[in-house]
Amino acid sequence: MSRVAIIGAGASGLVCAIEAARKGLHVTLFEKNSKVGRKILATGNGRCNISNEKINITCYHGESPSFAKEALRRFDTFTCKAYFRSLGLEMREGEEGRLYPMSHQASSVVDMLIHEARSLGVNVSLESEVLKIEKKGAEFILHVNEKTHAFDACVIATGSVAMPTLGSSGSGYAFAKALGHSVIAPYPSLVQFVSDEPHLKEVSGVKVDAGVELYIANQKRQSVQGDLLFTAYGLSGSAILDISRAASKAFVDGEAVHVVLDLLPNLSREELTSLLQKRLSFAKDKSLTLWLEGIIPKKLAHFIVENTKLTHIKEAAALGAKEMKKIVFALKSLRLHVKATKGFESAEVCAGGVDVRELDAKNLMSKEIKNLYFCGEVLDIDGDCGGFNLHFAWASGYLVGQSV
Ligand SMILES: Cc1cc2nc3c(=O)[nH]c(=O)nc-3n(C[C@H](O)[C@H](O)[C@H](O)COP(=O)(O)OP(=O)(O)OC[C@H]3O[C@@H](n4cnc5c(N)ncnc54)[C@H](O)[C@@H]3O)c2cc1C
Repeated sequence: MSRVAIIGAGASGLVCAIEAARKGLHVTLFEKNSKVGRKILATGNGRCNISNEKINITCYHGESPSFAKEALRRFDTFTCKAYFRSLGLEMREGEEGRLYPMSHQASSVVDMLIHEARSLGVNVSLESEVLKIEKKGAEFILHVNEKTHAFDACVIATGSVAMPTLGSSGSGYAFAKALGHSVIAPYPSLVQFVSDEPHLKEVSGVKVDAGVELYIANQKRQSVQGDLLFTAYGLSGSAILDISRAASKAFVDGEAVHVVLDLLPNLSREELTSLLQKRLSFAKDKSLTLWLEGIIPKKLAHFIVENTKLTHIKEAAALGAKEMKKIVFALKSLRLHVKATKGFESAEVCAGGVDVRELDAKNLMSKEIKNLYFCGEVLDIDGDCGGFNLHFAWASGYLVGQSV
């Protein structure tokens, strides 16, 4: 019987192991952590955004994103739901087509996967870090801890370097390079922004629905609306994660990044001006901050007063047309410099990875080395926020497991 080694018991490795074992292969799953699926447990704030109703190739990125088409065709949302249901897991739909386990717990997903893998006889080897892969004739020799093991096929499902505390060490990139494959240098994606703007700390913890425009080298590149969270270090929230890939790439290319925030996106500039004009009738005896607190959170009101340098105005009723314009400008077009991203330590995924042009899209096997496969985030394919990354991990693991 063919012996298959799968390196990494994360999302892609677990599904790959199940599919390969279902074919009757002898499967060993190596995991360096003492538990499987540690990253899955951290997904969706512990709720695991498994997939999305709107899986589409346009939600994926990389040097050659169309490579993912075959994996996504073979494992679409319908197949994904049926697959997890067959393991005993029901799903529910959340906002924007996002799919979650009905239990609201990421641990249910991991429990179902590992139960199935073990039931099918997968040899799950924990605390087993693969240190080296050697190709000797038709065999793959894996150096694991102090021992060596021989296999007929090898699947690299080691993930990326995003959030290394969960097990991502980038070892897959090193294995790929040692075996002659090219790796597109990884950079963080779905990651928060660090800003050095003064007074930002004071607004930390405030969450608003905002319009966010991303500027790279002073050119507008992306525009989104969604949750924006001010933090002690800078900016977070889904709107920031959505534009972070392009910003992260800009930093790699040495370009300057700033954002322009619309803190009241549901009011036009004219509507806001007219609302503020009307509200002047309630401005008597009120500080500027208190008056602004009638329409925005208190901390944000302080921040706007500081940012517009209107601290000298003691009473809101004393606002002139010029000052009013300043306030409208700050609320609708607040420019903040972005110094960096929070880096790999905080990133949900990595852009870049093993160059997919050197693999066969039909089975994810190396074009050069027979029986060497890759699946999951180790590949140069990354998805948008919303279940797209886990979906690709399942889909690519499924394709490899069925092809190996
Ligand atoms: C905080 C956070 C939240 C996220 N939320 C979501 C979400 O809600 N929805 C979504 O779609 N995506 C989400 N993601 C992204 C998603 O988790 C990943 O894209 C996905 O887990 C990638 O699967 P993978 O199998 O490629 O890698 P992983 O799941 O990272 O698994 C790789 C495994 O390989 C092991 N390993 C690595 N090297 C070795 C080695 N040399 N020897 C042995 N074992 C090794 C690692 O320990 C790890 O267990 C989130 C990511 C993070 C960090």
